Amino acid sequence: MPHPKEERTLVIIKPDGIQRSLVGEIIKRYEQIGLKLVAMKMLVPTAEHIEKHYTLDPEWRRITGEKTIKGYKDKGLTPPTEDPLEVTGILLERLKKYMTAGPVVAMVLEGAHAVKIVRKLTGGTEPLTSDVGTIRGDYVLDSYQMTDADGRSIRNLVHASGSVDEARQEIPHWFSKGELMEYRHIAEEILYN
Ligand code: GDP
Ligand code: MG
Repeated sequence: MPHPKEERTLVIIKPDGIQRSLVGEIIKRYEQIGLKLVAMKMLVPTAEHIEKHYTLDPEWRRITGEKTIKGYKDKGLTPPTEDPLEVTGILLERLKKYMTAGPVVAMVLEGAHAVKIVRKLTGGTEPLTSDVGTIRGDYVLDSYQMTDADGRSIRNLVHASGSVDEARQEIPHWFSKGELMEYRHIAEEILYN
């Protein structure tokens, strides 16, 4: 078992984050809390790579479909279909369009509670309701009402692994072993020793 301070998470700055010139601002927030960058690269992902990314967890289609249908109903709206897999089929097509629209910056961050800390700094999925002070809450104003009207994905600047298990599956999907750096960062002495 690795020490808890060695927990790792995947972050992808999505094409809108690049186009909004927010790369530096976003990385700064993850760096300044004390997380260590252990991998980073820029690429234009393929549609296949994105589909695989979202379906690494075989349950993702069902869980996200059910969550999305519940979201419609909670707002008093009628979902486009009652079939969770059909719903995620639509979401996946839109995600592939969004995530392959241009270059993204992928990175791996390491540190204590890396997954939870990054999610906290990133904020909730829908920017309309993401907390103020988070990346999604501070820099973007999109909503599901907007994306439903326009038939597209929610523009929320970043992807961040949702759990330690998700991170374990996602990191090797984006980075080879040789791209993951093992090094001593001097701040670790102050944070952990
Ligand atoms: P994240 O981990 O915060 O990015 O969110 P999820 O893993 O739950 O969802 C992945 C992606 O699926 C999101 O970035 C959205 O594009 C889409 N998605 C998730 N939930 C919903 C929803 O309730 N409605 C819509 N329209 N899209 C959703
Ligand atoms: Mg997720």
